[in-house]
Amino acid sequence: MNNIQIAIIGAGPAGLSAALELKKLGYDDLLVFDREDEAGGTPRHCGHLGFGMFEFKRVLSGPDYAKKLAKLAIDSGVNIKLKSTLTKVENGVLTFSTPEGIKQYKPTCTLFALGARETPRPDRLVSGTRSPNIITTGTLQRFAYLQKIKPFNKAVIIGSEIVSFSAIMSAKHAGIKIEAIIEEKDEIDSFCVIKYMVKYLLKIPVLTNTKLKNINGEDKKVTSVSVSTDEGEREIPCDGVIFTGQFIPESSIMQKSFDDFNFSNNSLYISQNFQAKDDGFFVAGNALRGALAAFKCYFEGKKVAKNIHDFIRFKHQPELIKIEADENISWYYPSMIDLKSPTKQHLTALRLKKRAKGAIKVLLNGRMIYKKNIHAFPFMSINIPWKDIELKPQDVIKLEFVNN
Ligand SMILES: Cc1cc2nc3c(=O)[nH]c(=O)nc-3n(C[C@H](O)[C@H](O)[C@H](O)COP(=O)(O)OP(=O)(O)OC[C@H]3O[C@@H](n4cnc5c(N)ncnc54)[C@H](O)[C@@H]3O)c2cc1C
Repeated sequence: MNNIQIAIIGAGPAGLSAALELKKLGYDDLLVFDREDEAGGTPRHCGHLGFGMFEFKRVLSGPDYAKKLAKLAIDSGVNIKLKSTLTKVENGVLTFSTPEGIKQYKPTCTLFALGARETPRPDRLVSGTRSPNIITTGTLQRFAYLQKIKPFNKAVIIGSEIVSFSAIMSAKHAGIKIEAIIEEKDEIDSFCVIKYMVKYLLKIPVLTNTKLKNINGEDKKVTSVSVSTDEGEREIPCDGVIFTGQFIPESSIMQKSFDDFNFSNNSLYISQNFQAKDDGFFVAGNALRGALAAFKCYFEGKKVAKNIHDFIRFKHQPELIKIEADENISWYYPSMIDLKSPTKQHLTALRLKKRAKGAIKVLLNGRMIYKKNIHAFPFMSINIPWKDIELKPQDVIKLEFVNN
């Protein structure tokens, strides 16, 4: 058993920026762990541009951004343990599977910066052939940029969140033709400009109001997909299917290890200091809620480092109230309020599951204390600045969305 002061799990933008900040604050007894053989997180395999503008004032590709972050961390003396997969958290002890065998650590503070992943085919309950040619954008990117493999020749993309644009770029890089983007909703799930770029510049059909019914094929090969529209069913020939988006936090460890898991948020209940109910556990980056841009996770890493610093210096006894949310809300932060925290501002950010017009309400013991009319898209975060509210430990807070 190794006793350490701070453990950070996940060497992506959130974990590495937290490590860099903690180093600046003078913490040396700090280890970063990652299951991969290189540090940098998800951007390592996002081979396109679109990273670093806010953090480094430069437009970088994902791999260059990941290398820069990892180099900054290593040059500042951050100790990164690679090929170390966190498998269990019990009584404050972290268990890792490593090439040298099982290793255990007992930190004073642990930051989970485990990132998020797209919902794969098995979780989407789509019937049809089982084939290795049915993958997510993340896997396609690993093939295209890290392993330089072209897994198939022509594919359909399922889903139209902004990440589907990354799937197109990655497919292009690997020499894969995209036959169509299929979206169940009546409009695409990202900015309209993306739709026009895809449709008119890249000349890829964007089929909205279209549902994937079956993946056809035999002998582990994909031959086509069947889709249904208002006009009936049709087949689209292809030899690969790319499922995109519907990001969920990498939360299975947290789910198994803590009894205070927030299923509507798919993360631990987290206070305004990024802190869980269990003493000394923090969460930041995409592990908190699904996918945000890398720079947001980077800056969140810096913020959480300051909160870890405060926890170590002033460790106060928390007094926590949970915030619950209704089924229209896909994620929200914070999901708890620590009444004794020095961080007084209770800024809540949330996202809706679907595009909708209506009102967000904050209810305190069933009474509305805040209302905001919104017209929101699922990829937009909505801020609710509700400070200076007198709260008591027995109060019940709920976030509600009501359609107009
Ligand atoms: C296809 C795609 C394209 C994207 N394009 C852009 C873009 O153009 N611009 C942009 O700003 N953002 C983009 N993003 C988003 C960006 O990559 C993420 O927001 C960012 O990487 C999240 O940072 P993070 O540190 O929270 O998690 P991650 O970067 O995902 O890092 C999490 C780390 O935790 C490690 N880990 C997980 N579980 C364990 C475990 N049990 N044990 C040990 N280690 C573990 C993982 O190996 C990983 O290295 C894209 C994301 C995807 C998937």
